[in-house]
Amino acid sequence: MSGPSEQLPIGIAGAGPIGLTTALGLVHHGLPVVVFEEDAELSGDTKAGTTLTRTLEVLNRYDALGPVLRAAVRIDEIGDIDRRTNKASSSVVTGALTEDTRFPFVINIPQNDLEPALNETLQRKAPGALRLGHKVVGFEQHSDHVEVQVEHDGEVRTEKVRYLLACDGGRSPIREQLGITVEGHTLAERYMLVDILADLDVANPRDYPYLAYFGDPEEWMIIVRQPHCWRFLYPLHEGQSEPTPEELADKARRFIGDVDELEVLGQNVYTVHHRVADRWRDGRVFLMGDAAHLITPMWALGLNTGVLDASNLPWRLAWVERGWAEPTLLDGYEAEQATVAIQGSGEMAEAARLYMSRKAEAAPAEDAGNWGNAFTRGLLGVSLDVDGTGDWSMVRSGAEPDAVRPGDRAPDLPLVAEDGIVHTHDLCADAFVALYFTDTRRRPAVPAQDSKALHHYLVSRWDAPHDSGLRDRALFDPAERVTRRFGVAPDTMVLLRPDGHVAAIEPWDPQAGGDRAGELYAEITGQAVPHTQAEEIDVELGDIGTSVVFENEHVRVWEVRLEPGESQTWHKHHHPYLIVGVEGADNRMDFLDGSEPRHMQETPGRVVFRDAGKVHMLTNEGTTRYVNRLIELKALDENTEM
Ligand SMILES: Cc1cc2nc3c(=O)[nH]c(=O)nc-3n(C[C@H](O)[C@H](O)[C@H](O)COP(=O)(O)OP(=O)(O)OC[C@H]3O[C@@H](n4cnc5c(N)ncnc54)[C@H](O)[C@@H]3O)c2cc1C
Repeated sequence: MSGPSEQLPIGIAGAGPIGLTTALGLVHHGLPVVVFEEDAELSGDTKAGTTLTRTLEVLNRYDALGPVLRAAVRIDEIGDIDRRTNKASSSVVTGALTEDTRFPFVINIPQNDLEPALNETLQRKAPGALRLGHKVVGFEQHSDHVEVQVEHDGEVRTEKVRYLLACDGGRSPIREQLGITVEGHTLAERYMLVDILADLDVANPRDYPYLAYFGDPEEWMIIVRQPHCWRFLYPLHEGQSEPTPEELADKARRFIGDVDELEVLGQNVYTVHHRVADRWRDGRVFLMGDAAHLITPMWALGLNTGVLDASNLPWRLAWVERGWAEPTLLDGYEAEQATVAIQGSGEMAEAARLYMSRKAEAAPAEDAGNWGNAFTRGLLGVSLDVDGTGDWSMVRSGAEPDAVRPGDRAPDLPLVAEDGIVHTHDLCADAFVALYFTDTRRRPAVPAQDSKALHHYLVSRWDAPHDSGLRDRALFDPAERVTRRFGVAPDTMVLLRPDGHVAAIEPWDPQAGGDRAGELYAEITGQAVPHTQAEEIDVELGDIGTSVVFENEHVRVWEVRLEPGESQTWHKHHHPYLIVGVEGADNRMDFLDGSEPRHMQETPGRVVFRDAGKVHMLTNEGTTRYVNRLIELKALDENTEM
């Protein structure tokens, strides 16, 4: 990245849930961000009320989950009840997701609490990024930036940003300025949303699941236990006028039966659209959230589908801005998200609406197995078309988890790293990650850990011994829990993207060497893997040899001893040195900066002189023991300076 626009922030129009989540994503990847929000305050409107498992994972990746969980009610059961008979047809039990996610639940949190909770983290991580009372009134695109006209206190100023992300809601003035059309329809019925204060837990226990869908041909009803009240949502038929608070209270009583006290706290009637933009990008401007897709808010698929956009675009922008990818990487955003929103969420939400009014016999995506239902309803079933083959899906079926496929969101499970537990999603939160499911005892030829853009890890129930040279790349998988959940054959490489989706799954030859993951990375990003300068890499350097056998002020003499297959730790020479072979072997020298490894046939008595230089390590690839004497010339570097 170069030029005058180097420090420009990414601009976001709109501080709804998608603008805020996207801002958190950009900040997570270290990009400067500015959010322009027209209103003087975050919205206090009664809107979305349920946040799904996948959204919790995205917020956790962006280090923004704490305040959200604090403000929410957690639920591990979604009820599906027939209103006429009061019979529960099936509940979706999210506890079935314990082998998939750290968050086997969904949460209820009103949108007007969610937005401040997201903003709490944004303020902590990027103070001043949110500019309330700033309305985007126009913009002009240039080759490497966008000039945005922003109105504040009656004055219009021009702000320069690298990209403009339109998170400006269903009406999206930015979409309009771009002349992008939306296709779809508006429902004849409207939705009535009522917040009610009534004690249905102690004084009048009803024991509804805290998120319950009551299907009915006349009038379906959704009941949501919000943190401080109960929320009722039901349709208002065409021509039906908005009820008064007294009528709403009567209706609630008719539904829940007699209760001692009941108060209507708030209400909202809204028109339901099902509309999608015909393009999501124009140059440096991207549409996100409701600006790109207005989806029937059934099964919580409105806000949560927007969060999928906010999971997909930030890492792409980060890779391009860091110079780690060609700008073509940005094309994948619309290619992957549009199908998921239109045919995935859009069609599922419409089908759910028909089922609620019993115009369809079964719930969409309903399957005999609870695991598939829970996985789908938590929005974990989103599989993206990562390789452009048109293969995507949103629905998973079955009673038990099945094997991971390319495009899937990877299971988020614990592995044991050098210092403690790590979860798969944490490993790839800001990097591509190649996981090699293999037998670490055989010392597989895994590429060096030498790039911030692509990490390599062996996953095995066999830990890497300290003399293997693989400690920094080995993840211990006790009882093969993670290996089994991924469902891959032995010696398989799984490449994960920074959004936790699986980019590729391929068989892997543990002794072949090379860097297949790096080749795949280059295909995806359009650029070779950037190798980090050795000094920047976070590895602990070890000793130069096995033991020091002599030392004075001029020289330090080491013995280096390597059994067949044994590796040294990474180390660096600060002085020039001589090597005198004692016992010969076939050795490989790896370099931390990713340079081509060097293969050497060492023979007894061979003498080699080397300058101090790059971080490297030696591996004995042969079948005989290797021994040398390594003489560090402590004073020579000073002498040669003269
Ligand atoms: C009553 C109701 C109930 C719903 N229930 C659910 C539910 O249970 N689950 C679910 O998933 N979804 C639900 N939804 C849908 C959900 O609310 C939306 O999908 C979600 O708000 C979309 O977020 P957004 O950030 O894309 O847009 P918005 O929330 O609309 O935010 C857009 C923001 O942009 C700002 N803005 C607009 N123009 C400009 C401008 N020119 N300059 C600067 N700022 C601008 C606006 O002020 C606003 O703050 C519901 C929606 C409604 C209306």
